[in-house]
Amino acid sequence: MNQEAHARAKQLVAQERVEGISQAERDWLTAHLQDCTRCAELTRQTDEALRSMRTAAIPLPRGLASRTQFRVRLRAQELREQAPQRRALWFACTLSWAFGIASAPYVWRLFAWFGERTGVPKLVWEVGFGLWWTIPALFAAAVLLMENSRKGDQPDWMSQGS
Ligand SMILES: [Zn+2]
Repeated sequence: MNQEAHARAKQLVAQERVEGISQAERDWLTAHLQDCTRCAELTRQTDEALRSMRTAAIPLPRGLASRTQFRVRLRAQELREQAPQRRALWFACTLSWAFGIASAPYVWRLFAWFGERTGVPKLVWEVGFGLWWTIPALFAAAVLLMENSRKGDQPDWMSQGS
């Protein structure tokens, strides 16, 4: 078991309680917690701390509760910071799709005209027209990739598996 797996588990435990995690991530976490007593104990403590924050009934070591709170709050803040960027991205994508749909007949004519002019086979300019539609998706994918690679300080568990 390496250090990155523990770090990932810790991250997922916090994440699960703030915004939820995917089924695959939950499966991974469950498997990890079965093998790793350290992380399982941490998860138990996190749940306990969160429960006590909600009910404020069970007295807990102060440091533990605030550490957990801090982690969860940090995670929530991280998400808030990303959210406006995401919204802007989706807005740009939607706009560009809408523009794509509105301009489709003209673009089609443009491609047809271009095909006629240059004598390019019909299939080629039809494919060109098809590719025109994938530009917003490619743009979104590029932005998402850039965003992911920017998180350089996080363990690179995505490409390494467990
Ligand atoms: Zn662990």
